[in-house]
Amino acid sequence: MLQDKITQYSQEINAFVTDKADELEQFRIKYLGSKGVIKEIFDAFKSVSIEEKKSLGKVLNEFKQLAESKFNTLKEITESSESQATVNELDLTLPGEGFEIGSRHPLALVRREIVEIFAKLGFTVAEGPEIEDDWHNFSALNFPEEHPARDMQDTFFIKKGGEKGDIALRTHTSSVQVRMMEQGQPPFRAIMPGRVYRNEAISARAHCFFHQIEGLYADENVSFADLKQTLFYFVQELYGEGTKVRFRPSYFPFTEPSAEMDISCTICKGAGCQLCKYSGWVEILGCGMVDPNVLENCGIDSKKYSGFAFGMGIERIANLKYEIKDLRLFSENDARFLRQFKSALI
Ligand SMILES: [Zn+2]
Repeated sequence: MLQDKITQYSQEINAFVTDKADELEQFRIKYLGSKGVIKEIFDAFKSVSIEEKKSLGKVLNEFKQLAESKFNTLKEITESSESQATVNELDLTLPGEGFEIGSRHPLALVRREIVEIFAKLGFTVAEGPEIEDDWHNFSALNFPEEHPARDMQDTFFIKKGGEKGDIALRTHTSSVQVRMMEQGQPPFRAIMPGRVYRNEAISARAHCFFHQIEGLYADENVSFADLKQTLFYFVQELYGEGTKVRFRPSYFPFTEPSAEMDISCTICKGAGCQLCKYSGWVEILGCGMVDPNVLENCGIDSKKYSGFAFGMGIERIANLKYEIKDLRLFSENDARFLRQFKSALI
């Protein structure tokens, strides 16, 4: 009999919900009050047989705990909803909660800026696969068989040997240049932005993947002067007028002659600082005239056509632009870092 009552009340308690203080007070009076259900049941308990007391004692205590914990839980809910209501009543003109909007990634910002600058010169955007065969990534670009860049240290190989030679993650976007030249005849005027992979230990200054933008311009009578003027224009647009450039002779398998291009330091304007290691200059890209062998490899008459190519790391350009010192920040997805580029959202 008593057991049935407890079961019935337990069901009622379990089913009870409210966020209103007065309803909760009714609940308290009904169950926990001095003339409430619990008092009544405990009184009734006194008159049951000793046998029944043994089995009912525990049930009774659990029932009491159930009522109390229900009351405490609902009390928290009603209090928090009441305080919310009080705030709302106090000042309805308070501004709403901030609405977080995303921002462009710094690498995307820089990439877009570079694409826009070259678009003004008539360069289109070309893309290609990130998984490449040996021909497009190395052989067509004049990399000798024993070239260290083919070594396991630098390249993520996916498959060694096979019909098309080794298959690997591309180590540069030059492979897109090869694909472009294979598909037609000059004139070519395009830039190739994309992700590339190198088998390097991850540190502040190196990463196993990064982004490049390469450019190719091929036509009749393209000269080194065209290369210099194009890149000079690019630098003025990207870093502001008055930025100086200098070319240093260099070596790349796919260009001849080859050069590396420095710009006057964007921080100290050439006076010398930590970024430029007190030289006043920072390197930003490699470039050169496309090696006639490469043109021939792609089915282009190197006697009729010539071209220039250049390539830069987007991270490098972004580092200089935003003074970022650790490459890893670009791929860690730390919202505190990414939020800083919100103002650049256009
Ligand atoms: Zn400097």
